[in-house]
Amino acid sequence: MSKNYRGKALWKLPSRSRGTCPVCKATRIKLLYTLLTENGTKLTVCKRCQQKKVSI
Ligand SMILES: [Zn+2]
Repeated sequence: MSKNYRGKALWKLPSRSRGTCPVCKATRIKLLYTLLTENGTKLTVCKRCQQKKVSI
């Protein structure tokens, strides 16, 4: 279970874990982090956004 976010483990994920970050709108970025928004919704975001506080 180590290195879940690196290497070939990514390729098992839907769209190989790449997509558009819902927070910063960066395209084709790796979305690997779950962010809990202020109203309880979980978003999958890129690493730049994992610390952000979002209310969507
Ligand atoms: Zn982002």
